[in-house]
Amino acid sequence: MSEHTTLSKPGNPPHESGGPIKSVSVISTGTGEGHREHVYGSRKPALWWIFFGRQWVSLPINVYVIEHSDGLVLFDTGQDRAVVTDPDYWPAGLTGLIFRHLFKFHIGPDDTLTRQLEIAGYSVADVRKAVFSHLHSDHIGGIREILHADLVVSSEAWEHMLGPHSERHAVFRRDIDLPGAKWQRISFQPTDDPSIAPFTHAFDLMGDGSMVMLPTPGHLPGSLSMLVRRDGAPPLLLVGDLCYGLELLEHCQLPGTGDKKELRASFAKVLALKERMPDLVILPAHDPEAAEALRGALPRAWAQVQTDRGSIARENHENSTR
Ligand SMILES: [Zn+2]
Ligand SMILES: [Zn+2]
Repeated sequence: MSEHTTLSKPGNPPHESGGPIKSVSVISTGTGEGHREHVYGSRKPALWWIFFGRQWVSLPINVYVIEHSDGLVLFDTGQDRAVVTDPDYWPAGLTGLIFRHLFKFHIGPDDTLTRQLEIAGYSVADVRKAVFSHLHSDHIGGIREILHADLVVSSEAWEHMLGPHSERHAVFRRDIDLPGAKWQRISFQPTDDPSIAPFTHAFDLMGDGSMVMLPTPGHLPGSLSMLVRRDGAPPLLLVGDLCYGLELLEHCQLPGTGDKKELRASFAKVLALKERMPDLVILPAHDPEAAEALRGALPRAWAQVQTDRGSIARENHENSTR
């Protein structure tokens, strides 16, 4: 028999005001250039544009940082800098050849997860959990830096990684299933919470309804999004690589890779959720406008806290590099 869970609304713990989510910000582990066809879709076969496409689109590799009253939570962890420093990063043979033609990465020494968190005023040691939208290499690159944290992924994404052809899809078990890594594979639970309809399954990450993982497959099997609900501020939906920009989602313009049927179904669900929550801010993993969108979605009191935090972090960074 299946178990129904009702997701609680984020409440005010007695000692806090404003609910369990204290702040949400975005950092970036460098940028990657992808083919225009990859981002906007194309009728040409993927192998054609991978090898002959000449139009490149530069995209940040975002990591979302959520301060919850129980600790720091990351959504995705970026790209490992080894992709630009280690000539053996990509696998040998045709698979490696394809990936070398698929992306160009620009990741400096200050673009690691650890440094980016420091620059934003945090410490990597404070990370309590990381949620993975999916297991592509540009989302799991920080795992080695947060082996102390709980690493949360859908069981479907994990099964896909264990499958025979995951490397062809840029899912590298050698960088994911690391000794000592504390992986938590979650299954979405049926829910009758009307506030997240049309989603019928969800996983409540912290048990307080503030961060709710939702299945949005299509980019890869088991890909997920995370709804972040804050008191007094618009809700956020972190969608990973479901789409590369909000306008593409709104126009149902599918990207160049992924399962088209599943992508279409996930797009429809996200758009229906947006209709239900008109102030919902949708944040893709490679959205260049993410920081701006987050600033626009801040309640006034938070905006001041984040500005202060940013200036303190910048001052510390400048002092330490002098
Ligand atoms: Zn991806
Ligand atoms: Zn990605």
